[in-house]
Amino acid sequence: MKIKTFIIKYAEIGTKGKNRYVFEDVLCKRLRSRLKPLGSFNVRRDYGRIYVEADSDYDYDEAVQRMSHTFGITGICPVHEVEDPTPEKIDEAAAEYFEEEYDSYNFTFKVHVRRRNKSFPVHTMDMEARLGGVLLDRFEDRGLSVNVHDPDVMVEVEIRGNAYIYSKIIPGPGGLPVGTNGRAISLLSGGIDSPVATWMIAKRGVEMQAVYFNSPPYTSERALEKVQDLGRIVSHYAGPIKLHVVNFTELQLAIYDNCPHDELTIIMKRFMFKIAERIAKEEDAGCIVTGESIGQVSSQTLFSLGVIDNAVECPVYRPCIGLDKQEIVDISEKIGTYETSIRPYEDCCTIFVAKHPVTKPTLEQITESEKKLEGIVEPILEKAMETRTYTWLR
Ligand code: ATP
Ligand code: MG
Repeated sequence: MKIKTFIIKYAEIGTKGKNRYVFEDVLCKRLRSRLKPLGSFNVRRDYGRIYVEADSDYDYDEAVQRMSHTFGITGICPVHEVEDPTPEKIDEAAAEYFEEEYDSYNFTFKVHVRRRNKSFPVHTMDMEARLGGVLLDRFEDRGLSVNVHDPDVMVEVEIRGNAYIYSKIIPGPGGLPVGTNGRAISLLSGGIDSPVATWMIAKRGVEMQAVYFNSPPYTSERALEKVQDLGRIVSHYAGPIKLHVVNFTELQLAIYDNCPHDELTIIMKRFMFKIAERIAKEEDAGCIVTGESIGQVSSQTLFSLGVIDNAVECPVYRPCIGLDKQEIVDISEKIGTYETSIRPYEDCCTIFVAKHPVTKPTLEQITESEKKLEGIVEPILEKAMETRTYTWLR
């Protein structure tokens, strides 16, 4: 029997008390939209469980892959479903399930029954003993044995309206369903860190939009494509991501022409933040997210980060802040952005970067330098806002 039903496990949503159903509903919605391209699926919740039922042919591996990338899920259990269950039907289905799911039986097992349907004629512990006996009878001569204390395989049987048999749990990414915690604007560059940062905040249920500062002709179309590819990979977890592309060249040239070169990176970042904050306001997003990590480069010293933060009023979140580069690389490999992030490209900041950037800037010093931009920068900022474009990455 081909698997047609999955039980979806989730951890943190279960602690949400009265709001729990809100989180469950959002998770159902996410699952529906992720699975829709693959066929017809019925996604429903029922007393603390989410069920995914395929009503048509579908690609099993692709469906499992999509579910295992959906935030909020801790485990995906492919189940063998028994309609109008009787003890005899469950006996037979459990044996059939074992026959199909395993090739060798050199392992120990235990049966765990949950009997939600109290009118089911056999009690929980009797049903466990009975099913254990059935499986042992059938598979003992092929190596199967019982271990009630520390089994290799836990055979779960849930008896509700129908009965569900499963023993395998495919891990999900954890977190909370996207759309349960507001919206954020992520500064997405083509590097390793910002896609990881975007993924980490999305994991906590935040709907992500992204902004990329493009500097043609100093940066190429390929650099933009790389950012789009990265955003698309993150969207497989985070849901569709609206990517705003802001033309940053004119602003960078104005800063380059008017401000001390050792402060360029800091001042540019401050303007990136100001633009991101304006976009955030328009898009009803509450905060800015970046891939910065303390001390990684000169513009990321505690002093620099503080001065950059001061450019905006909205909160700035930097989920990579305490991670070493290797730890960020490990996450990027896990989520599948690494290979794309290391594609060679030009970064708008590396082109305009000074040989010896300041590492201990003060706010007074930087705001003093920015005075040289008075009267020049505001129309450029407005133009950058007006001429920005966006695409949906999915
Ligand atoms: P990343 O690996 O994310 O590119 P990085 O180590 O290269 O980061 P910086 O270049 O200092 O560090 O950038 C720090 C953060 O600023 C990035 O993580 C990103 O959030 C943001 N950022 C930098 N350049 C851009 C850009 N061109 N467009 C959008 N955001 C950017
Ligand atoms: Mg970068």
